[in-house]
This record gives sequence, structure tokens and C-alpha cells, in this order.
Amino acid sequence: MGNPRVIYWFRTDLRLHDSPALKAALDLNPDVLWPIFTWDPHYVYRAKGGVNRWQYLFDCQNDLSESITKLNPKSKLFVVREAPQTVMPKLFKAWKVTHLVFEKDTDSYGRERDKVVVDLAKKAGVKVISPYGRTLWDSDDLVVQNGGKPTMSITQLQAAGKKVGKIPRPLPAPKHLPDPGDMPLDFGLESPDPKPDVNAPLRDGKDQAYTSLAGPKGDFAIETLEELGFPAATTPHRGGETRALKALEHIIADEEYAATFQKPKTSPAAFRPQSTTLLSPHLHFGSLSVRLFYWRVQDLVDKYKGASSPPESLTGQLLFRDMYFAAQAAIGSPFVQTLNNPYVRFVPWHLPSKAEAGTETGTNAASGAYHVDTPQADQWFQRWKHGVTGFPWIDALMRQLRAEGWIHHLGRHAVACFLTRGGCYVHWERGADVFEELLLDHEPACNAGNWQWLSCTAFFAQYYRCYSPVAFGQKWDKEGALIRHYVPELKDLDQKYIYEPWKAPRAALDKAGVKVEGDGLGERRKGTYPEPMLDFGERRGVCIAAIKTAYSIGLHGNDQQVKDGTWRKL
Ligand code: FAD
Repeated sequence: MGNPRVIYWFRTDLRLHDSPALKAALDLNPDVLWPIFTWDPHYVYRAKGGVNRWQYLFDCQNDLSESITKLNPKSKLFVVREAPQTVMPKLFKAWKVTHLVFEKDTDSYGRERDKVVVDLAKKAGVKVISPYGRTLWDSDDLVVQNGGKPTMSITQLQAAGKKVGKIPRPLPAPKHLPDPGDMPLDFGLESPDPKPDVNAPLRDGKDQAYTSLAGPKGDFAIETLEELGFPAATTPHRGGETRALKALEHIIADEEYAATFQKPKTSPAAFRPQSTTLLSPHLHFGSLSVRLFYWRVQDLVDKYKGASSPPESLTGQLLFRDMYFAAQAAIGSPFVQTLNNPYVRFVPWHLPSKAEAGTETGTNAASGAYHVDTPQADQWFQRWKHGVTGFPWIDALMRQLRAEGWIHHLGRHAVACFLTRGGCYVHWERGADVFEELLLDHEPACNAGNWQWLSCTAFFAQYYRCYSPVAFGQKWDKEGALIRHYVPELKDLDQKYIYEPWKAPRAALDKAGVKVEGDGLGERRKGTYPEPMLDFGERRGVCIAAIKTAYSIGLHGNDQQVKDGTWRKL
């Protein structure tokens, strides 16, 4: 028998540096190694990734492919355009594969998919190796050390991490890569077994590109936005391991910044440059290793006098990421929702506004009818989503998010609190859906966990502390620079009114060339900015009272509604 014939399956680790899985593949001393990326219909059809995130993915793939080719001119990243659950058994057979190696996934969907693929590999006699490498510690080990329970606080995470052991030091990138083997595709049309439901309808008449396993030219090329029918991306943030490593080095070079970083002191109004690292999209795509990030900072902190410490410090930020991943690993797929999630408080969202009292459509935990909005709540949601709430601070952040795919953590706090318990009283899952579409760094665990935090349904319970859509922004940015940039209709408005244009006298509005009118939805007249959609002072009181009641009833996502409409605690 010859040496191993290995498929290295890139997914959440679009890098060559510090990859325990890639090292494991190379340690096999393979005869041939195919670096592949497979198309996953879950991400193409079901997950709601916007064009900016797609561009970031293609940046990562292109950069990785070039790096692979630098190590072996015969190799590159081979993009296989079919679902892994159906294509893998065909590749195992046709390419005579002996080993399948990949980085262990942390997300619920990824883990379910991998279970299917691992079973298929076993059936085909292919050995599977999949070490962790996406987090500081293996999320499953953290769960074990946390008594089988989800890590719901940083203290729990730190205690569990201590028991798991020291965070491993990063590994160097390989210096050579083996040749890829032949890649015959003549597997006929026999039906794979088992056949998962992955045949969702194809997109926008661009079926051609989706039907050819090796791409339209048969060369396993990396996709382009154009080919997939996307418009041009709008974000200035670009992906790829080369950029990620450069960005990290830039941050570490500013020793004072990296060693004394305190998150609560970083401004959500800062942009170009932003006040935090903006490394989250790189971590999401795995173009940057989280352990490299951790150790580059920790080594600095260890020799720096007066360095900050977790959770506010830079390494502390990475602990939050591990905390949400381990919480998800313990709870499984219900982690990203209320339904069947015993750790998330049930809140009957969509309280009617005063004007709507008596017209409530009703929502409920265990029935799953989460997204039944009152017409008013739905309109508020739409205005929030499109950045036309009439509150310039909220609108600037939402427009920054839509255009660029990233906003500062405290900006995320402000808009998430406003949509849920601090204004609109709309279900956090609706906000999380919008973030899923727009964020470059969208991580199911971090997104859901942070929305739970902000809506006070899990992780955080101080529901009486709300962010004002006026005063919070003013604290950071009196001049309103963020607003002037992202809400250009207000760019010439006097500083006195920039956060509250509805209070501006006619003369000030005329001078700035803007009128405050309408709800901002549909076609908007040029030179207008919408009226505020709610009275924040009034809504704040209403929301706090409602959450207080929900807390006193104390139901969670796994509690049951019984036939008479009352709730039963399980
Ligand atoms: P830095 O401040 O430079 O922190 C360094 C790294 O630490 C980040 O890149 C990130 O990986 C990690 N980190 C920092 N804060 C958090 C946190 N609260 N939770 C988890 N990880 C953290 N982060 C995501 O990576 N993906 C998401 O989908 C996501 N959704 C969010 C939704 C809401 C409503 C909120 C309030 C926060 C969300 N976050 C999410 C967390 C956080 O806002 C971002 O990680 C951070 O703003 C990224 O910017 P940065 O890289 O400059 O962060």
C-alpha cells in the first residue's frame, strides 16, 4: 500500500498558519494532498449572507489559493461546487482517498453536516482526522470542565479553561505542500446514499454555474460575485490571510494600544480608523488564527507594565468568543433561538404601543409564533433595519452596518438595545436575522449570544439600564462626525441638533438644507430626514415595566403554553 492520499477540506480555517488540522494532514506524510473547498447549499440558500460577506469569502479563498500555489506550483485551492454530503463519497471512490482531514467545526449546523460526512467516510473506509483550531480551547472540553453545562459567564469560561489547560502556542505555516493527485470526475449519475435534502431551487437563473462540479471552465476555479449574480460589494473591508497577518502585526506594533486596551473606553463613533481591532471577520473566516492573536497580545502583556486585564483587555475579548462557542456546544441548535432553549428567558415581545392597545396579535414561547408583530412593531422594525428611525445615531450605525458590514461593539449594543428592550420591543431574533445578513463577521454563536445579552434574555439581566439613542452617542461624539458621514442629509446641521433634528428650529433646518418629515420608508424626497418613530422616554418606561413583568413570571424558551393560553413552567 502506498502513502496516504489525503483530502484537506478547508472550511472555517482559510489560512496556512497555525492550523492544527493542516499539520495533522501533513504529518501523515501524504503521497498526494487535495486542498479543497466544497459548496454548501446551507450557506448558499439558507443562511442569509449579504454580498459584502461573499466578497470577503472570495478574498480569503483567493489569497489562500495563491499561498498554496507559492508552496507548490501544481496546487491551489480547488473549489468543488457540490454539497459535501453528496460529493464526498464520490470523491472518496474516484480519487482513491485514504484520509479526510478538516478543522473541527464549532457551529451546530456544521457539526450536524460533519457527522453525515464522517459516517460516509467510515462507510468508504476513509479515515477522518479533525482536531480543533477555531477557538482558544476545544469548546467540547470546556463544556465537560463546566460540568456539562453551557458557559454563561466569563468567570465560568475562565474556570473551565483553567481546567482544560494552557492555550496551545501557534504552529508555523508549512514550508511545502504535496502535489494534488489526479481529479477524475467520471463518477456517473448514481445516486449518493444517504441523499440529504440539499437540492434547494437555484438562484436567479444562474443555474449553469451551479450545476458544474468543477465550475464553468472545469478547473475548480474560485467563484466571482459576477458569476453568482451578485451586485458589486460596498464594503471597504477586505479579507485574506495576508491582510489578516499584516493587520495583526500593525496592532501589535502599537504596544501601548494592544497591551492597555480597555474595551469600554473604545469609541463606537470612531471610524476610519475604528477604535477596536476589526479582526473579527478574519477570525470568522479563519484567515487569522485566534491562538496567534491571543499569544501575540499575551506575550506583549507579560512584559508590559500597567497592562490591562480580562475581561476588558484584548485577550479578554477573545474569551467572550470562546464563551459563546462553548455555550452553543452545550445547548446545540436551540442556542440561536428562544424556542426549546432552557437558558433563554421567554419575553412576550411586541407589546402594543399606546395607540395599538387592544389590537395585540399575541406571541408565545413554545408555540414558536415569535415573529407575529403588531403592525406598529413591524413598521418600527423596517425603519430600524433600513436606518430611517428618525434617530440619527441609530440610523448612522445601521447604515454603516449595511454599507460596510461591520460596526463597533458598543454601536451593536446601541442598535440592539433600541430594537428590543430599549425602545421597539421587537423580538431579538428579528434583529439577529438582520445582523446575519449584513455582518462580515457573522458567527451564529456570537451573534445569538450577544443579542440575548442585549435583550436581557440571557447572559445579562440589568434590563433597567437602557442606551439612550441620543445621549449615548453624544457622550462619544459631540460633533456628530459618524452621523454626518453615514447620514449625509444631516451633514450640515448645527451640532446642537445633530442628534435630535426634530428639535431644530426651521431656520437651522433651512440653513442645513434639510426637512424633517415622513417615516423614511418607500421613496424619500431629496433633502428630507424622517421624523422620530417613537417617543424614547415613554417607550423606555413601557419596555422596562414589561420586561420586569416577564422576569417576575420567569418563563424560559423550553416552557410550555397550555391550551387555555396560560404558561406552564417545566
Ligand atoms: P475587538 O474589540 O478588537 O475584539 C477582538 C476580538 O474579540 C473580536 O474580533 C472578536 O472575535 C472577539 N470579541 C470581542 N467582543 C466580543 C463579544 N462580545 N462576543 C464575542 N466575541 C467578541 N461578534 C462576532 O464575531 N460575530 C457576530 O456575529 C457578532 N454579533 C454581535 C451581535 C451583537 C448584538 C453584539 C452586541 C455583538 C456582536 N459581536 C459579534 C461581538 C462584537 O461586537 C464583535 O466581535 C466586535 O465588535 C468585533 O470587532 P473587533 O474585531 O474590532 O473587536
